[in-house]
Amino acid sequence: METAAQTTDVPQLDGELSFDQAARDAAADDFGHIVHKTPEAVLTPGSVDDIAATIKWAAGRGVTFAAQGQHHSNFGRGNAENGVVADMTALRSVGEVDGDTISVEAGAKWSEVLAKTLPAGKTPPVLTEYLELSVGGTIVVGGVGGTTSAYGLQSDNVLDMDVVTGEGHRLTCSATENADLFDAVRAGFGQVAVITRATLKLIDATESARRYLLFYPDLATMLGDARLLGGGSGADRFEAVQGALMPSPDGGLAFRLDLAKYFTGDEPDDDALLAGLSDDPAKRQITTLTYFDYLNRLAMLEGLLRKNGQWFHPHPWITTFAGDSHVEALVGDELSRLNPPADLGQFGQVVLSPLRRDAITSPLLMLPADGLCYAFNYVRVPTTDDAETAERLVEANKAIYQRVREAGGTLYPVSAFPMDKAKWREHFGDTFDGFEEAKRRYDPGHVLTPGYDIF
Ligand SMILES: Cc1cc2nc3c(=O)[nH]c(=O)nc-3n(C[C@H](O)[C@H](O)[C@H](O)COP(=O)(O)OP(=O)(O)OC[C@H]3O[C@@H](n4cnc5c(N)ncnc54)[C@H](O)[C@@H]3O)c2cc1C
Repeated sequence: METAAQTTDVPQLDGELSFDQAARDAAADDFGHIVHKTPEAVLTPGSVDDIAATIKWAAGRGVTFAAQGQHHSNFGRGNAENGVVADMTALRSVGEVDGDTISVEAGAKWSEVLAKTLPAGKTPPVLTEYLELSVGGTIVVGGVGGTTSAYGLQSDNVLDMDVVTGEGHRLTCSATENADLFDAVRAGFGQVAVITRATLKLIDATESARRYLLFYPDLATMLGDARLLGGGSGADRFEAVQGALMPSPDGGLAFRLDLAKYFTGDEPDDDALLAGLSDDPAKRQITTLTYFDYLNRLAMLEGLLRKNGQWFHPHPWITTFAGDSHVEALVGDELSRLNPPADLGQFGQVVLSPLRRDAITSPLLMLPADGLCYAFNYVRVPTTDDAETAERLVEANKAIYQRVREAGGTLYPVSAFPMDKAKWREHFGDTFDGFEEAKRRYDPGHVLTPGYDIF
């Protein structure tokens, strides 16, 4: 195979195709810092036509192509070894709020979308914990947020998209136009098309959020309240219900629910909202934040981890979904295997957040059968950057995934461990054939997003 640097048939572009070593090295890395696969060239697109022309060019030469947003994958999912990657952040313009919608280029970050919508009193209904992720990067994985129980995934709140397929064709898709493509792009891991623009749904934003941090003596008690507030009779009390098991100074874990009530004007009635809950009232932490500061709450931790260097360490995270019927036994068993300081780090946590299954409609997001599920994630922030620790934790992830599956759970595929084609087929189950058909139709040469290794 001729390498890109040797070829003379580089397409005419509005932007630039760079063969520069530093650009290629940067494109080989991501937030996981575990998998590094270097592309031959990095596209800085000057237009959507550049994406189409470069995909055609890559396809014609038998090399792969991957879009890259903010590089916050954590297992090389945006890599294209010896292929071409596109820096989507070059296409990041955000349109004006138009009623309950906004049109944005896929390289825009969610913080940039909010900067446009909040002055108009609007917000995307679902936002990830971290706002510095790209719109395209989270739509292709789904995008879970604190309000997913009410509004689904970010990919469930997209009205239409402009995309470029694996053959370099520019198409628009929605629930009514090229619906098969729409369904294969949302939470479809970049397998059939690159998203260049999306129309996002908006809802009214409140001015403030009242945040409640509640602490529990054990897993069972915390799950009791998570069930009540996440799917039971208390489900309408809070906009966001998230759980976490956090390393405590004594080497154990603290069990915490993090609840948010959005409001404008008078503060909500704390007593009514917290009535009947089983947390330790003496430990409650209750604060009022602006809506944006609440959404942007990870920024403080990011600043701290950048300062102490841990932001740049390997991040062997695993993200899964567990069904309510198995969650207590499954998580209890996993906790008995966990050494919090070594396996999570002082600033890591095990996420355990309830989600109502019926709110999620993107067909490629695989969930357990239970009506109430939990995002069950190991957000590992190792205190060391040595490769051996990362390797040990990647191995641990494999074993955790196996046990999650045996308990009827599923994978949220932004996880850090390798999946081969047979495992992906198992993961998608009956959905696989339709996904494969979409791959055949829109990316028959298997050009796009090789980092997942699904097909
Ligand atoms: C600190 C942190 C917090 C996070 N919080 C959450 C959370 O709350 N909820 C959640 O669901 N996830 C969360 N994630 C995971 C995150 O959503 C995914 O890793 C996401 O894919 C990262 O987006 P990105 O812009 O960095 O994309 P990249 O890492 O650049 O790309 C991710 C994948 O998307 C593909 N891709 C990127 N842009 C496009 C495009 N325009 N068209 C087609 N394919 C594209 C890439 O090829 C790659 O396969 C978090 C990750 C981090 C590091």
